[in-house]
Amino acid sequence: MKPLEELTRKNIWNLAPYSSARNEYAGREAHVFLDANENPYNAPYNRYPDPLQLELKDVLSKVKGVPAENIFLGNGSDEPIDLVYRCFCNPGKDNVVAIEPTYGMYKVCADINDIEYRPVMLDEQFQITADRLLAATDAHTKLIWICSPNNPTGNHLVREEIAKVIESFEGLVIVDEAYSDFSTQQTFRSEILKRPNLIVLNTMSKAWGCAAIRLGMAFASQKIISIFNKVKYPYNVNLLTQKQALEALKDPFEVDKWVKILLEERSRMMEAFKLLPICEKVYPTDANFFLAKMTDAPKIYNYLVDQGIIVRNRHRVQLCQNCLRITIGTKTENGELIAALRQYA
Ligand SMILES: *Cc1c(COP(=O)(O)O)cnc(C)c1O
Repeated sequence: MKPLEELTRKNIWNLAPYSSARNEYAGREAHVFLDANENPYNAPYNRYPDPLQLELKDVLSKVKGVPAENIFLGNGSDEPIDLVYRCFCNPGKDNVVAIEPTYGMYKVCADINDIEYRPVMLDEQFQITADRLLAATDAHTKLIWICSPNNPTGNHLVREEIAKVIESFEGLVIVDEAYSDFSTQQTFRSEILKRPNLIVLNTMSKAWGCAAIRLGMAFASQKIISIFNKVKYPYNVNLLTQKQALEALKDPFEVDKWVKILLEERSRMMEAFKLLPICEKVYPTDANFFLAKMTDAPKIYNYLVDQGIIVRNRHRVQLCQNCLRITIGTKTENGELIAALRQYA
């Protein structure tokens, strides 16, 4: 890996971050707060929230098995996705490499930040070799984006190839594990301490059932986390989100139960799809969704919309012609989808 200073934008490396009122007295006991121009009434919403979300990170640390100092929390995963560009990529000069097809936000944030985006096509099995990703890099490549289990294909990428990318690349590798709770694959977040160029993304939006509260996380070396903390908005995770996340984290067994039901339903749905005359192929998946190749995806999609049932049409995505992406819902919702598809003529 190149020295972090060399990978970081010069203006960011030299940045003096905003120092909030709550940062400055740092940790000492206090009970009169006349420092932040807050209204003393309307507790608890009158007070600015903890800018570093320490209580929440403490709990997450136990659940995720990652030290609190190695956790960054953001307004969804969207925030760390945007932050890596803003921290490490010089607009108009640097580039990033990513698997294709994958989650759309990596490219959107590249475009917003004026960073060249270099997609590298997966093969027919939706896999990739480390060598092909590395071949797309040059001296200005700062990041490589990997998503496993991948969206929209659903499958996990071969672990040895991901490891090889991390070991061989001189820049930073981001492994988005938004769907790892649904997969039996070993995660990469346990490896951040021994892999200084690795950033792993997680989210509360999928298995944890909290998409509405917007809480995403990045796991990385303390040095990388401190760069993120310098650049983020001072109060990027609001009090309601921090409270609600703490509430959800009290009951990890509830999440295990949801995941178990969703995986059972996923098997049932995939079997049912295989029997549909309008379904040509069901792809293997490690996530809470699967990809199905249909006879005519756009037409079937519109038919379902007319029935009030929304799935994701991936027909225009490379390698996904005529594919619909089906999220696993409740038993009732899944049953409704299958019943509608059986009626399709
Ligand atoms: C859904 C999803 C996310 C979650 O994003 P949030 O902003 O945390 O809701 C992240 N990465 C991938 C690949 C996803 O599919």
